[in-house]
Amino acid sequence: MTESMPPAPIVITDGITDVAPGIFVIPDNGVPLVPNIGVVCGDTGVLVIDTGMGPLNARHVLDRVRDIANDRPIYVTTTHFHPEHSYGISAFAPEATVLMNEAQLTDLQTKGQGYLEFFRTFGQTVAEQLVDVSFTTPDIVYEAEYDLDLGGRIVRMQATGQAHTKGDQVIRVPDASAVFCGDLVEESQFSIFPWFPPEDVDVSGTRWIGVMEGLLAAGDTLVVPGHGRVSGAGLLEEVHDYLRFLRDEVWSRKAAGLTDDRITAEVYEKAKAAHPLWVGEEWIEKGVQCFCAEHDAASASS
Ligand SMILES: [Zn+2]
Repeated sequence: MTESMPPAPIVITDGITDVAPGIFVIPDNGVPLVPNIGVVCGDTGVLVIDTGMGPLNARHVLDRVRDIANDRPIYVTTTHFHPEHSYGISAFAPEATVLMNEAQLTDLQTKGQGYLEFFRTFGQTVAEQLVDVSFTTPDIVYEAEYDLDLGGRIVRMQATGQAHTKGDQVIRVPDASAVFCGDLVEESQFSIFPWFPPEDVDVSGTRWIGVMEGLLAAGDTLVVPGHGRVSGAGLLEEVHDYLRFLRDEVWSRKAAGLTDDRITAEVYEKAKAAHPLWVGEEWIEKGVQCFCAEHDAASASS
């Protein structure tokens, strides 16, 4: 393996850690295209949050979860439709109850196949994990909010509405003040804006800021990001601040009549300088482009 090749996107279940009583996280270990995976246990059921990319990864996750569940029924849900978060669902489907929000199901139906083909172009190590992917019909589909009773513990699933994707979901465990955020929240990483015009322009920076305000208001203190380390409420503040920074820096330059290219160059430098240790700097430009487009749309309609 050369130094420029990223490590294969393989979930390592050995690193599973308990972050609160009956709540486990299989950490991403800082590997790109590996998500943090959650396991929440109640007396009568166990919920898995995100699957890893593809059925091979998901089978390893399921093996680990079976040990933890010890014959309790297994439920599985996904924070959003992106491949590393949800494309292992078929490995769970035969024995687990699959839950999803309506908007996320629509994302899968309209963009799932396109993203599968897109991700298969990311190189051999990614393509290897995307063999035999199939999309599963969920057992339970909810619109805005769903309370899952795991026995002595209620888990609250909430569709946030359009932000990182149209079908984002957060999963809250109120008795532990814990929240699983998917890619709405990353730790030590620039927020991922999947802005790929013309195929996908569903990310909304302005709505995302509103979603972060809702998460802050909910007051959870154990925050599991989509990627990066499990953190406290300060991480929600940090992401909220970054998104507002991005919006304000872009929109003030738009108002001053700067070109999108110049805005992109200037805001990239400023964001990098503000967060020298964060990874994923390629997403700064996508974020700027998203906010430029949202500014254009607001100007056109006013
Ligand atoms: Zn994502």
